[in-house]
Amino acid sequence: MIRPALWLAALICALGLAPAALAAAAPTHRIHVRIEPATQSLEGRDSLRFEAARAATLVLSSRFRIDALAVDGRRIEPVPRLIDGFQRISLPAGRRIDIAWSGRLAPLDRSQDHRDTLTYAEPASASDGTFLPAGSGWYPAVSGALERYSVELDLPAGQRGLVPGRLLEESEAAGRYRARFEFRQPAEGITLIAGPYRVEERRVRTAAGSEVRLRTYFHPELAQLASGYLDSVAGYLDLYESRIGPYPFSEFSVVSSPTPTGFGMPTLTYLGIDVLRLPFIRATSLGHEVLHNWWGNGVYPDYARGNWSEGLTTFMADYAYREREGAEAARAARLAWLRDFAAMPSAEDRPLARFTARTHGASQIVGYNKSAMLFFMLRDAIGNDAFDRGVRDFWREYRFRVASWEDLRAAFERASGRHLGAFFAQWLQRPGAPMLRIAGANAAAAAANGWRLSVDLEQNAPAYALSLPLAVRTADGEIEWRVEIAHERTTAVLALAAEPLEVALDPDMRLWRRLAANEAPPILRDLMLAEHPALIVPGADAALRTAAQDLAARLLERTNTANADASALLVAGLHGDIDAWLAREHLAPRPPQLAPASGSAQVWTARAGDGRVVVLVSARDAPSLAALARPLPHYGRESWLVFNGERMLERGTWPARPQVWRLKPTGDHPR
Ligand SMILES: [Zn+2]
Repeated sequence: MIRPALWLAALICALGLAPAALAAAAPTHRIHVRIEPATQSLEGRDSLRFEAARAATLVLSSRFRIDALAVDGRRIEPVPRLIDGFQRISLPAGRRIDIAWSGRLAPLDRSQDHRDTLTYAEPASASDGTFLPAGSGWYPAVSGALERYSVELDLPAGQRGLVPGRLLEESEAAGRYRARFEFRQPAEGITLIAGPYRVEERRVRTAAGSEVRLRTYFHPELAQLASGYLDSVAGYLDLYESRIGPYPFSEFSVVSSPTPTGFGMPTLTYLGIDVLRLPFIRATSLGHEVLHNWWGNGVYPDYARGNWSEGLTTFMADYAYREREGAEAARAARLAWLRDFAAMPSAEDRPLARFTARTHGASQIVGYNKSAMLFFMLRDAIGNDAFDRGVRDFWREYRFRVASWEDLRAAFERASGRHLGAFFAQWLQRPGAPMLRIAGANAAAAAANGWRLSVDLEQNAPAYALSLPLAVRTADGEIEWRVEIAHERTTAVLALAAEPLEVALDPDMRLWRRLAANEAPPILRDLMLAEHPALIVPGADAALRTAAQDLAARLLERTNTANADASALLVAGLHGDIDAWLAREHLAPRPPQLAPASGSAQVWTARAGDGRVVVLVSARDAPSLAALARPLPHYGRESWLVFNGERMLERGTWPARPQVWRLKPTGDHPR
């Protein structure tokens, strides 16, 4: 299930391109399409050419009528087979197909959320937006083939439109807007977007010397945001050209959508009006989408053998921006990944190699976060220079080609001169993560006034090979220590000048690992993803019970179960009832920053004595509880929040507590 908070963190990337191995056979469309958004009518003509004569099956939405059809100039009477809303038209061998079609598009449904947009493949149109996704059958696609294309759009004056590719010409005359685009790389389909756009354009010469046309296609109410977006896109092009290599296309456009969606395609990104207004999108998701023109749309993942492009893009975009803010922000980002992973039921875990595209929260945790952490650990292992060299060589070698995880590994092996087979194998082929513990530690005075520290480390079987960071606090300050471990038990010994006081295990969260319960104080997602959640409503108010059930339905991925078998609890009620329930269950009272007087509702996570996650939702009255149903599912990464009605006032996470072994004064008890 895709939740808004997840897709805002990293937008869905509908990659429009696919294996170049099939490229030779790609036919070329020459499409002319006239669209009247006010009446949802579409008229199209296409002249399709194949390099050599071949039989083909065309796939067109069954909402259209075929007005004319010819193969190599001979008229054909179409005999479509209707399957699932599409008509499939099998044609005899030929080198050229001419076809004309027309019909009504679906009305654009503004109530759709992003999840609907992903699954709802109807071509839809209205005056404030037209969205004809690849795969919706708005043009006669050749079944099973990649396609090159040129598309000429014909729209009423005031409307603007585009498809991915190079803009060759455009004009506005006699009450019509016309624009012609071309895409020369074989693509997986053609997506057409139109709307009452104001276009802002800037031509930039990038650091690598390419000339790129940057555009915003924005609804009028976003006009004042255009130049800021163009600035940001230009900045991202320079950043990634310097880190990877020249931008592989001649345009990039940011396009607004009347529905709350988020898509990335080669040369453009299509984002909801309300999404574009969010102040952080320019600083995060936009860069992610621009970078996909290198990873995903510039080098194509070998989907059958796993999609590396989301992880590399997340690492070089979303995560890199946090790193630029400073070490603390970067650590917080890694901790958030590990917390999300800790919240994921292990039954949903899959090897990273099996990730192809995001379909629900768990696949984001593996396909984006674990994958990004793999690149982080790789950079730790081989160093920044070798990592950067590997990235640039990989780009140079695989531009507009298919590449697999194996190809990436080979590029980093060449750049670093190291064998990385075992590293990639354990992170790609195995589900899950190592669980690491300090089982004991001893310090003894050694000869020559030094100290000898010995630490017993344990991990669950089967063991991972890891370079485990330890932080040793001594009387003279902190020492970073890397211990190479490859077995379930390792005793590591370190000679020190000063007396060691305590040892912390990976306090910077530099390894992909399963956090211990105390290391990861709970977040809302622990409940949202729980396999067996239960709802408890202390108190007797019927309206409150209804509101609580509605909140549970919105928040929980699985339906709730009986209290006794539950793995996580959602407890919702009035302030007084919640306080009484906490006392009865011997749980810690309401935290001080969540006084009942603040806002109209408070939400916080706790851990029961038996380790179960408990989420408390404490409201002033039933309407205050009902008001949380919409906003709360967006805050899976938080530990506590205060709301006034639907508006979030404050939020935060409980601090993580690294595993620490204290050597003084008694040296016996890990915290
Ligand atoms: Zn992406």
